[in-house]
Amino acid sequence: MSSSVENVVIVGTGCAGLTAAIYTGRANLNPLVLEGSLPGGQLTTTSEVENFPGFPDGVDGFMLMDNLRKQATKFGTRFEQAMVTSVDFTSMPRKLVCGDRTILSKAVIIATGASPRMTGIPGEKELYGGKGVTTCATCDGAFYRKMDVAVIGGGDSAAEEALFLTRFASKVYLVHRRGELRASKIMADRATSHPKIECVWDSVPVAVEGVEAGAVSGLKIRHVKTNAERVLPVKGIFVAIGHVPNTGPFAPALAVDEGGYFKPSAGSQVQSKVAGVYVAGDCADHVYRQAITAAGMGCQAAIEAERWLAEHDA
Ligand code: NAP
Repeated sequence: MSSSVENVVIVGTGCAGLTAAIYTGRANLNPLVLEGSLPGGQLTTTSEVENFPGFPDGVDGFMLMDNLRKQATKFGTRFEQAMVTSVDFTSMPRKLVCGDRTILSKAVIIATGASPRMTGIPGEKELYGGKGVTTCATCDGAFYRKMDVAVIGGGDSAAEEALFLTRFASKVYLVHRRGELRASKIMADRATSHPKIECVWDSVPVAVEGVEAGAVSGLKIRHVKTNAERVLPVKGIFVAIGHVPNTGPFAPALAVDEGGYFKPSAGSQVQSKVAGVYVAGDCADHVYRQAITAAGMGCQAAIEAERWLAEHDA
């Protein structure tokens, strides 16, 4: 076990975590940021971010996160690769267990984000990653040049993935379980009017075909009104049905709602039920889930942590 005690440990390197790092860094708290399996968070897998204030021509998601990281580093943030497996918040300093290592800290900001939700249909798991099932068009779209692909989902993510894939694929089926998209009007209009996108309404995925051959050969779908099944002959399947919050290791110590999202204490957006422990970004927000709101929560958590340390730190 490490004997040194950090001022503030920030878990997560998405918009919320890095904004918290910039603020606590500028407050001379010398923050330690723990980064997990997807440094930079969800925005690193997004192509163009069009709605982050200050970028009238849009900004590349990876570039935005890289800039936030540079800004955090400039103010003294340290980064370490570590996955938190459990916590002990019952005493001071707070304990973060990362495998066989324990990190001690006076204050903690949890900004662990959310991970893609999967459909759970047969074949999805077997053919995930490099075999035709993916959750990231930006990462994998170019592998499907001149092929037919399917996107599952009806939100902004699904519309965005489908539109991005039109750059490569011959045809993009947008498979949605209802008769209209949930996506914002501008995204929905762009997707539904694109000549390469065919919307497949009122249809749910049933199975990914091609497991025996080790590569996707089709997506079996079922029409929810007629129960008729058919197979879309696609080589790539992009799952875009939302996200689940990454709160597992912390959930026993903090309050979470029925969806698994952190529930902040009454009167605050970022204060957890444990003093000196804050939550920020998509792990604690199932309503807005935007880069800018995550950044805002990271800022709030950092200011709260700074004030709490000033009041309670000897
Ligand atoms: P979302 O808005 O929650 O949409 C998820 C979609 O997946 C819904 O259409 C839902 O269907 C469908 N779905 C959920 N579970 C399913 C299942 N098991 N099988 C089939 N379909 C299923 O998630 P999101 O699109 O990832 O967006 C999340 C947030 O990020 C939103 O606030 C969104 O506005 C934002 N976002 C913004 C942008 C942008 O502005 N450029 C880009 C991406 C995301 P129902 O409609 O029937 O519920």
